[in-house]
Amino acid sequence: MMKSIIRQLAIHNRILLASHTRPDGDAIGALLSMGLALEKKGCQITLYNESSIPAVYRFLPSVHRIREQLPAAAEFDAAVILDCGNLERVGAASAVISRIPVIINIDHHTTNDHFGHYNLVDESACATSEIIFRLVRAMEVEIDPMMATAIYTGILTDTGSFRFPNTNRAAFSICEAMVAAGVQPFVVAQHVYGTSSMGRIRLLNLALDSIEVSHDGHLSIMTVTQDMLKDTGTRPEDTDGLINYARWIQDVEVAVLIRELKNKATKPEHSHFHVSLRSNGDVDVARIAVSFGGGGHAGAAGFSIESELSALKAVIYHFSDHFVEKP
Ligand code: AMP
Ligand code: MN
Ligand code: MN
Repeated sequence: MMKSIIRQLAIHNRILLASHTRPDGDAIGALLSMGLALEKKGCQITLYNESSIPAVYRFLPSVHRIREQLPAAAEFDAAVILDCGNLERVGAASAVISRIPVIINIDHHTTNDHFGHYNLVDESACATSEIIFRLVRAMEVEIDPMMATAIYTGILTDTGSFRFPNTNRAAFSICEAMVAAGVQPFVVAQHVYGTSSMGRIRLLNLALDSIEVSHDGHLSIMTVTQDMLKDTGTRPEDTDGLINYARWIQDVEVAVLIRELKNKATKPEHSHFHVSLRSNGDVDVARIAVSFGGGGHAGAAGFSIESELSALKAVIYHFSDHFVEKP
């Protein structure tokens, strides 16, 4: 598959690269590194993400080239979709993108539905950025410090700094190679983890206070409402990583973060929510997310839903009585 993708990228010139909405470090790192590699091969590239780039990732080289507006489908010969389990993950632009003649799907989610004409999906990869590293090497593009920083950041963040269950040998060997190629680990760490706005600390305070634990102690639920964001002057991206506090609690097997979204709900007592799920090992949270129309990995998954908050919590608590352990 890698060979046919390299061939497709060699015969097409105008390439759109896109990754999922509310991008994380991997969605941005894979987008930048793959884009820069194709540019080195002489392609005309457009980098697209529907959402604004979180402040902690704005230090990445070429990040300013990521556009929030998508040109017409006719302007592209091929699209490379990164870190998306399904095409809808790119957001509202998925309909336009689906009209681009060649769609290449590069991803590592277990729930990937192979939406592309070409699919390079490797569930054993710790990050999409790991797959990009292998692809770029096979394309015989030299990895410069800019690309190296993007790949390194993608792997560092998707493995939770080499702590999550997806942390594999490649995570270390590629990051070592990226440091050899010019990455400064301390500089990356300072940008990604080293600083926080005062508002984000106050949001952390409210989020910690919202944590509830099920009667058996195996499930924790943290809630972040639009009011909390307003009161602390924070943005949705400031909730990134908060779920790890809920996951940290002793005996917790599954941690849940319920985030209220801004979208208008169809009923006054309802809101739109994004629900993030994290497993501490044995429970496959991708299965839970899929049953709600979402997806992800065994250890980290999510879904979006319109509901009343108390009803949503009740459904999640109900689920905790029936956790399906990984085979
Ligand atoms: P999050 O819930 O945003 O923290 O994401 C956890 C993991 O689940 C990430 O790998 C996401 O890409 C994936 N994920 C989150 N929401 C969805 C969704 N609605 N559909 C498919 N995958 C998702
Ligand atoms: Mn991602
Ligand atoms: Mn990823």
